[in-house]
Amino acid sequence: MGNHSIIEAGAALGAGEELSGRCACGAIRYRIGASPLIVHACHCRDCQRITGGPFVINMWIERKHVAIDGAAPKAFRLAGGSGTAHDVYFCGACGTYVWSFYHGAPGDALFVRAGALENPERIRPDVHIFTRSKLPWLELPAESRAFREFYKIDQVWTPANKARLAANRAESA
Ligand SMILES: [Zn+2]
Ligand SMILES: [Zn+2]
Repeated sequence: MGNHSIIEAGAALGAGEELSGRCACGAIRYRIGASPLIVHACHCRDCQRITGGPFVINMWIERKHVAIDGAAPKAFRLAGGSGTAHDVYFCGACGTYVWSFYHGAPGDALFVRAGALENPERIRPDVHIFTRSKLPWLELPAESRAFREFYKIDQVWTPANKARLAANRAESA
């Protein structure tokens, strides 16, 4: 993988390579030291409301791979659609949402907003989820993997990333 290739599930960052991002004011800066387990474009109503856009691009990444260099983000707890809590993290100064923690998701992982990366073009969604609430004027690329709600990890993730998730669950148990 070259330095400027798109990172999809199963692809890896180069040796020593990191993704970096920040909030709009720069108080929060962070680095991601591994490729995401998967990248979701989520079209649910919560993500539309939080971002003010048609969907959010979330990188599912183990928390241990996210290093914060600046201010610690603040959290606000939402009731997730599935009934489990969803903590959204944002900059206390400028209000930019930087990531989510879903209490219902397995393991100890953050869902980091790809739009806040310095190089957001590196990331392309692996799957589109909750397309039941996709805005009707938005047409997904023909080859997209799309799910009306969520999907079964077993049927979608690469074997290597399923192994990473199993390790992450064991570490956080
Ligand atoms: Zn900020
Ligand atoms: Zn969502």
